[in-house]
Amino acid sequence: MRIAFFGVSGALGAPGDGNVSFAVELDERTVLVDCSGSPASQLAAVGCDLTELDVLVLTHAHTDHLYALPSLIHSAWIAGRTKPLPIISNHATREQAQRLLGVFGLPEKSGMFRFDWITTEEGSYRLSESGGSELRWFPVLHGVPTIGLAIREGAVRVVYSGDTAPSEAVLEAARGCDLLIHECSGAFDDEARLRQQGHTSAEQAGRLAREAGAARAALVHLPATGWEALRDEAAEAFGKPVEILARGCWITILADSG
Ligand SMILES: [Zn+2]
Repeated sequence: MRIAFFGVSGALGAPGDGNVSFAVELDERTVLVDCSGSPASQLAAVGCDLTELDVLVLTHAHTDHLYALPSLIHSAWIAGRTKPLPIISNHATREQAQRLLGVFGLPEKSGMFRFDWITTEEGSYRLSESGGSELRWFPVLHGVPTIGLAIREGAVRVVYSGDTAPSEAVLEAARGCDLLIHECSGAFDDEARLRQQGHTSAEQAGRLAREAGAARAALVHLPATGWEALRDEAAEAFGKPVEILARGCWITILADSG
């Protein structure tokens, strides 16, 4: 499995970094998770063909995760896409996504490819007929209905928390995973405010990764400044180094050999 992040910033955006969005390549399929920045150029920069993108996952309807959806769809249409695009989301996110596409009249464009909405609060999607690769999504704890994501290719398992306060569902999904990508919106001394807003501190993210027995942990949805301190705080709770993944390049995730 390979992952390419396009941004790891929360709503405010650190200088030079984008909002959280990433591509996953597994079983010769490409999945895009959330839609921010300039999706067409970001995908092209890592060699993804917009006309071939296999699945889009929209985790929730907050601005920083959804605003570039019209751009993605418009670019794919301009590029000549004809293949239907499966779009996985919960109901609230689908409604907002459809409104957003409607603002630009995109569904009515001549020759627009089909959107295959897969709309459930939780569920799973097989990427290959053999069943060796799967996306599974589940509700997490945020201000609006939001999903977390478990991604599996054979023995390799990656879990993305989505935007959430510390969540049992993430913990269960992340048990023994090879990489837990967890949101981190601030430090431990800000936990009361973070919880109220449906977010997680660095310490809580690190602790959850340790409790889950994740092989690796990475932080995303970071505030505009102070990343080093948050990484250190999470690492202390995790008991080993915590990563902030590089952007704009593929990172290969291997099964933990134990
Ligand atoms: Zn959010």
